[in-house]
Amino acid sequence: MGEERSVVLRKWFDLMMLYKEELAQIITYECGKPMSESLGEVAYSASFLEWFSEEARRVYGDFVPSPAKDRKILLLKQPVGVASIITPWNFPSAMISRKAAAALAAGCTVVVKPAEDTPLSALALAELAEKAGVPPGVFNVVPCSRETTPAVGEVLCTDPLVAKISFTGSTATGKVLLKMAADTVKKASMELGGHAPFIVFDSADVDQAVSGAMASKFRNCGQSGIHDGFMDKLGRAMDAELRLGHGSEPGTTQGPLINTRAAEKVVKQIADAVSRGATVLKGGKRLEGSFMEPTLLSDVTTEMICTKEETFGPLLPVIRFNTEEEALAIANASNVGLAGYFFSQDVSQIWRVMEALEVGMVGVNEGLLSTPEAAFGGVKQSGLGVEGSKYGIDEYLEVKYMCFGGLKP
Ligand code: ADP
Repeated sequence: MGEERSVVLRKWFDLMMLYKEELAQIITYECGKPMSESLGEVAYSASFLEWFSEEARRVYGDFVPSPAKDRKILLLKQPVGVASIITPWNFPSAMISRKAAAALAAGCTVVVKPAEDTPLSALALAELAEKAGVPPGVFNVVPCSRETTPAVGEVLCTDPLVAKISFTGSTATGKVLLKMAADTVKKASMELGGHAPFIVFDSADVDQAVSGAMASKFRNCGQSGIHDGFMDKLGRAMDAELRLGHGSEPGTTQGPLINTRAAEKVVKQIADAVSRGATVLKGGKRLEGSFMEPTLLSDVTTEMICTKEETFGPLLPVIRFNTEEEALAIANASNVGLAGYFFSQDVSQIWRVMEALEVGMVGVNEGLLSTPEAAFGGVKQSGLGVEGSKYGIDEYLEVKYMCFGGLKP
C-alpha cells in the first residue's frame, strides 16, 4: 500500500539525515568532491526520499464518464514491475535516490548498478534502506568493475523479468542500453548528456551572472557589450573563490577530477581550442594526478570540441555574440538539450528566450535549478522522461483501462 511505502521512505530519509556526515565522507572519498558539495549532495539525495514518500500516497487513478449507460470506465495506475537503474559517478548518491525513491513509491522493486568508480554510496544507501524497513529484495545493488559492466548491463536491459530501465549517463551509453531494451520493449527513462548554454545578455546584472557562472561551470556566451566586463569579474571571482585540494580539507572548493582519463580529456579540449584560436585567460594546466587548474577560455567558437563534447572538468569556454538571434542559434545548434541558463533584465527578452531555448530546464537569472519539486529531464538527445516533481512517479507506473460492462439500468 502507498501509505506503508510512504512510511518506509520517510524513515529512510530520516536515517540519511542522521548519517549525513558519514554519507558525505563516503562521497568525498569515492568521487573527490569537496565535503561542502558532498553534504549538499546528501541533502539533495535524501530530499527525493522525502518527496516521494509524500507522493506515494497520491497515485490516483481516474473514474471517467462513460459514453454508454451499461459501462463504467476506470483508469488504474499500477507499478510497472522490476526496474533496472544504472547511474554515473558524478552524483553517486542522488542519481540513485532520484530514481529509486520514485520507483519504490510507485510499488516497483529495483536493481541498481552504480558506476564502477563509485559503488560505496550505493551500498550505504542499501544499508540504510534495510534499517528503514525496505523489505529484502526490494532495493538491490550490483556493483561491478569496468570489465564486467557490459555483461551485467546486458542482463539488466534484456532480462524478460525487467520491465523498465532508468539510466543516467552519457548519450552514447544511453543509446546502447536503449537498443538492448528494444528487444523486449522495455519502458525507458534516459537522463543523458547535456551541454548547458549559459547566456549573458547586455542587459544582465553582471554580478548576478558571475555568481551564477561560479555556481556551476558552463559553456558560456557573453554578448559583445557586456563581454569584457563579465570576463574580468569572472576571472577575479575564480581567483578569489576557487581553492584546489583534497575534498576532505576545509576550504577546498575544487577536488580532483574523477580519474586521470577525465583530466586528459580536459587537456585535449583546451589544446584543441587553443589550436583553433582560443585564448587561455586563467589556468589551462593539468596538475598532479587528476587535478586540473580551473580554466577560463575566451575567443571560443562553435567549431571547438569543448563546445560540442561534455567536459566534466573546471573549464569555462566563452563565446562572444552580438544579437539575441545569434545566441539562440549557437545554443540551439546542439543535438542535446538538458539545461540552459541566461541572464537578462529585459522582460520581453526573458519570455522570448525562455520559450525559444531547446532544453528541458531553463534558469533565468539563476545558475542552480535542481529540486525534487521540479521536473528534471532533457529534450533532443538529452533523454526521455523526467525525474522528480509530480510527474517523476509516472515513469514507474502504467495505466490500466478497466471497462466494467453489462450493467443493467
Ligand atoms: P560517464 O562515465 O560519462 O558518466 P557512462 O555512460 O559511460 O558515462 O557511464 C554511466 C553508467 O553507465 C555507469 O554506471 C557505467 O558503468 C554504465 N555503463 C557503461 N557502459 C555500459 C553498458 N554497456 N551496460 C551497462 N551499463 C553501462
